[in-house]
Amino acid sequence: MQRYGLFNKNETILFFFIRAKMLPGLLTNFFVLTLTPNMKLYPKDVGSFVRKLTLCKLFNVLLIWSSYVLTKWLRRPVQWGLPMTVSIEPTTACNLRCPECPSGLRSFTRKTGNLKKDLFSKVIDEMGDKLMYLIFYFQGEPYINPAFLEMVAYARRRNIYTITSTNGHFLDDENARATVESGLDRLIISVDGTTQEVYEAYRREGRLEKVLIGAKNVVKWKKHLQSPTPHIIFQFLVVKPNEHQIPDIYKLANEIGVDEVKLKTAQVYDYVNGNELIPDQQKYSRYLKQADGTYRLRHSLANHCWKLWHACVITWDGYVLPCCFDKDAAHRLGNLHTHHFKHIWHGQPYQNFRKAILKGRSQIDICANCSEGCKVWA
Ligand code: SF4
Ligand code: SF4
Repeated sequence: MQRYGLFNKNETILFFFIRAKMLPGLLTNFFVLTLTPNMKLYPKDVGSFVRKLTLCKLFNVLLIWSSYVLTKWLRRPVQWGLPMTVSIEPTTACNLRCPECPSGLRSFTRKTGNLKKDLFSKVIDEMGDKLMYLIFYFQGEPYINPAFLEMVAYARRRNIYTITSTNGHFLDDENARATVESGLDRLIISVDGTTQEVYEAYRREGRLEKVLIGAKNVVKWKKHLQSPTPHIIFQFLVVKPNEHQIPDIYKLANEIGVDEVKLKTAQVYDYVNGNELIPDQQKYSRYLKQADGTYRLRHSLANHCWKLWHACVITWDGYVLPCCFDKDAAHRLGNLHTHHFKHIWHGQPYQNFRKAILKGRSQIDICANCSEGCKVWA
């Protein structure tokens, strides 16, 4: 079949048809997929996001979304554009010992280390003009990398909305000020309990008091520097041992002056015969108890994946991975030390992975129990 650049004649016709006739519907679908029904919007945060939008970024989103729709129609992978978001791993190291996390367990089989500034600037140079937002998190505690906030400031200068997720143990006065000054847009702090006992049930070796002081420091420096950013979120991963503290986390966040609380449902590895982490309240669980007492996923495993079309993960040493569920980097689709990002994104290993998802998602280890298609935020 005759090819026109990245796609063939039929795809070209469909693409222009989509652009001309279906744009409003596509954009509606896109926002339905991106925004959850109970999602609250915060004007200052929305302002930070919107100010960084460009026509180039919006057009890229349209390309990705069109190719995703086409893929579902054609049942073969079509990929246009570049990812609209990337998670990049500042480090694999962590000070805590959370039991379900390879950083916490020190159980990686891959190499461990810190992201270097030159690799980071290569990523931004190759794809920064397409990124709607950049997540400084995969595995590990971002603040352990001494160059972390410098990289945030670099992304900020390149007009990219930046997010990080931290366990909150490094937010002393100096780091809190530097965080605000870096221009970071969104700071997610994991607070999975409102008492030390409940908090440390999962955040082993963590000190709740230190985290709360850290959050207060950032709130203080935001006020002092009259900065609208970062938008501070307490992220509360709902599991059985802490579900009774849900009302308390809202009170605590309010007392400290945190902008938002987000309740997250938890992924559990062994769920079929029940698990001590699965909450009793059904709306906070990704798993459904059946009549015979066993559990199953609440959502069905559809053979497609929006995440694979619009996002990717980059490890500290430059490997490109399909998504954040590949914690030990088993599905390496290329390395940025040897290839340009575009080459990897449109390369054969990536297309093969996309094909495999379309064929049978349940056949891929990481895809059989992931959050794609399920309710992540309660
Ligand atoms: S704080 Fe985060 S990175 Fe560290 S051990 Fe816990 S889950 Fe893993
Ligand atoms: S693990 Fe889930 S999100 Fe990741 S590629 Fe597979 S289906 Fe998509």
